Amino acid sequence: MVIVMKTGATNEQIETVIKRVAELGMKPHTVKGEEKTIIGCVGNDDILRSHPIEQFEGVESVQTITKPYKFASREFKKEDTIIDVKGIKIGGGNFAVMAGPCSVEGEEMMFSTAKMASEAGARILRGGAFKPRTSPYDFQGLGEEGLRYMQNAARQYNMAVVTEVMDVREIELIDKYADMFQIGARNMQNFSLLKEIGKTQKPILLKRGMSSTIKDLLMAAEYIIAGGNNQVILCERGIRTFETYTRNTIDMNIIPSAKELSHLPIILDPSHGTGKRSLVTPMALSGLVAGADGLMIEVHPQPEVALSDGPQSLRFNEFQELMEKVKKYLEFENKRIG
Ligand code: PEP
Ligand code: MN
Repeated sequence: MVIVMKTGATNEQIETVIKRVAELGMKPHTVKGEEKTIIGCVGNDDILRSHPIEQFEGVESVQTITKPYKFASREFKKEDTIIDVKGIKIGGGNFAVMAGPCSVEGEEMMFSTAKMASEAGARILRGGAFKPRTSPYDFQGLGEEGLRYMQNAARQYNMAVVTEVMDVREIELIDKYADMFQIGARNMQNFSLLKEIGKTQKPILLKRGMSSTIKDLLMAAEYIIAGGNNQVILCERGIRTFETYTRNTIDMNIIPSAKELSHLPIILDPSHGTGKRSLVTPMALSGLVAGADGLMIEVHPQPEVALSDGPQSLRFNEFQELMEKVKKYLEFENKRIG
């Protein structure tokens, strides 16, 4: 259940209600909106039904949330959540582009990519330093060295850093270098990782598991929010279907669906979604039309020699052309870039 406080409810009134909720054995979770404060209550709803919280001063209403993903649901919060990554906004009409190589391969390539991507309008630099590779014999990432290259390149070009955390043991290290943590598709239901990442203070990019439903994705987001971090950005990156021509199948339905069901922003990754360079731009633009709040695009100075995901990485000129189209469309939609 959620308790909606009246516009202008005092801090004291809010604190009194929170205290009462805790006394009743429920876990209160407060979200301060622009106008109203909402207190989500996790636990047995029957307890609240039999104790009239409505009668406390400053309470406007007590509502039942029917969805199992309480805090992630639109029922809980009507307005779009806007996530702030080092001053870059995502959601609620703010569009952000994250670009960079699949893996951080060296310092020079991170600098040249950051320069090109930031000049083209991307404000978040991506790159994996810890890579989830299907084969143990494939390049596994440069680890901390890679994180350092990425952070230096991002600082130089005034960008934020997003990078994947594969394991609970990496959180502390990655926290020193990243502005946003990425949870990869293979880890979307790694519940220990979701719980731990929920204890951090930075935004989380949560990628959809390759055989997960929208409900599974929102439940994964719920784990992070219930853990204490409500800065979650969802990401569609394609799912496994019977189609083999493309690496994955982009489920474009999820973009408007997520907007109906949740207040969280959702972005599209057409690189992993298609696995083919020639399809990245058309699918990226389709994502914009579907209402995505951002894009994650793999780009590489020389995709032919990339250590991972070369076939789906855009060349610099292709990324620049994509960004010109993105900007034109955002103007048409009256949306701002980051
Ligand atoms: C990635 O973004 O580098 C990645 C590995 O993506 P996914 O988890 O979607 O496969
Ligand atoms: Mn990749």
